[in-house]
Amino acid sequence: MIFPELVMIFHECLLIIQPISLQNSILGPSKRPKFKDGTVHSKLPENVLTSWKIRKRVLDVITQGAALLMEFAYGQAVERLPPYTSERSDTERSLRNLRAGAAGEQKVIEAVRSVALPEHTELVQNVTLSLLGGVRFQMDLALLSKSGILLIECKQIGGRLKFHTGPAELRKVDEDGRILSVYDCPVAQLSDQQENLLQWLRIAGFRTPVYGAVVFANNPIIEEIGEGMPVFKLRETRNLVRRHVERKPVVHENEVNRIAAAMIESSIPYLPFPLQIAEPSQFVTNPICSICNNVLSKRSERKWECAKCNRIEHKPYLLTLLAWFLLIRNTISSAEIMQLFGLKTHKAARSIAERLPLEKIGSRKSSAYKADYEALAGSSMVLDAIQTWLKQDRAAKDQYGTRKDHQLAAKDQ
Ligand SMILES: [Zn+2]
Repeated sequence: MIFPELVMIFHECLLIIQPISLQNSILGPSKRPKFKDGTVHSKLPENVLTSWKIRKRVLDVITQGAALLMEFAYGQAVERLPPYTSERSDTERSLRNLRAGAAGEQKVIEAVRSVALPEHTELVQNVTLSLLGGVRFQMDLALLSKSGILLIECKQIGGRLKFHTGPAELRKVDEDGRILSVYDCPVAQLSDQQENLLQWLRIAGFRTPVYGAVVFANNPIIEEIGEGMPVFKLRETRNLVRRHVERKPVVHENEVNRIAAAMIESSIPYLPFPLQIAEPSQFVTNPICSICNNVLSKRSERKWECAKCNRIEHKPYLLTLLAWFLLIRNTISSAEIMQLFGLKTHKAARSIAERLPLEKIGSRKSSAYKADYEALAGSSMVLDAIQTWLKQDRAAKDQYGTRKDHQLAAKDQ
C-alpha cells in the first residue's frame, strides 16, 4: 500500500500550495504525478507526512470521488442496457436507492455538524475497515469523543414503517397494515456494525465503548418499535449527539485522536469496479448521446452526431472510456479503443487513453491500458466531467429515476 499513500500525500501538497476548492484540488491533468516516482516523497516536509488530519481530508476527497463514480456507473448502466430488461429495471432501482441514500446521509451529517461539538471530538464519514479474514465493513458516520464512539447508520425510507421481530425485518405498510416492502432490519445491521467495530478496535489495541443509533433521514411514521431500540428521526439527531458527548468521559483526549488517525490510516476507499450488474455483452459500449442515449455517428474527430436529437457532441471520449472501465473491465486494449471510436491507428488510440490516469501495459500493437480506480476517483478532470453529466441526468429524471419524457414505471410509494 505504499504507492497509493505517496500519491495521496502528494496530492495533498498540491492542495496546500494552491488553496483551491476540494473538488478541483487534486490530479488536474497537468499536475498528475508520475506514478511510481519515489522522489516526490522525500521532498515533503515532516509535518505533512505525519499529519493524519491531512490524510483525512484526502480520504474525504477520494471518498466523494468514489461516490460520484458509483452514481455515474449506475447512471451509465441504465442508459447502456437494453430497455425493458430486468437488468435495466434492477439498475434503475439501485440508482434510485443510491441517490436517496446519499441525500439522506447528507441531511444527517448536516444535523450532526450543526451541533456545537466539544473539543476532542472527531466526525469520521464513510470509512471502510477490514477485519481478519478479509471481512470488510463500512460505516456511514462515526462520532468519536471522550465518551466513546457513536455509530450512526443513516436510512432513507419514507412512509409507514413497522419493526418486526422474528425474523428481524423492517416492513413498509399501508394504512390498513398491508405490507408494501420488506427491508433488512436496520437495528440488526447496526448491531453487526458495532460488533465489527469493537472487534477492529480490539485488534488495533484500543478500548472504548461503541454506542449506535439508526437515524431515519425523512421522518417516517414508525409504528411498533421495540422497547429500547436505538431508532431516531432526523429531527432528534441533534439531541442524540448532544446526549452522547455529554456522557461521562471514559477515553483520554489523545486516545480520541489516535483512534481517529488509526481509522483513517486503515480505511480502504470503496471502489468495487467494474460493477457486476450484467454481462459485458449486454451493454452498448460506443459513444452515446448524453440526452437520448442514441448511439452517436462519427462525422469527424470532434463532431459526433445524434440523429435523433439532431445535435452534435464534440468530445464523447472521456465519458465513454470511463463507462467502459466502470461497467466492462479494468483494462482496455488499444484495438478496443480503435473500435470504440472508429480510429485507424494505435497512435490515435494512445492519445485518447493518455487523457486519463491509466497505466499502460503491454507494448506496440498488443498494448492495453489499465484503470487505477483510486486515481480516477481523485482526478478533478474526471470528476468535473462526471458531475456535468450527472447534473443533466438528475435533471432529466424525476425522483423515481424514470425519464421525464416517458414515465412507464410504476411509482414506488
Ligand atoms: Zn440524442
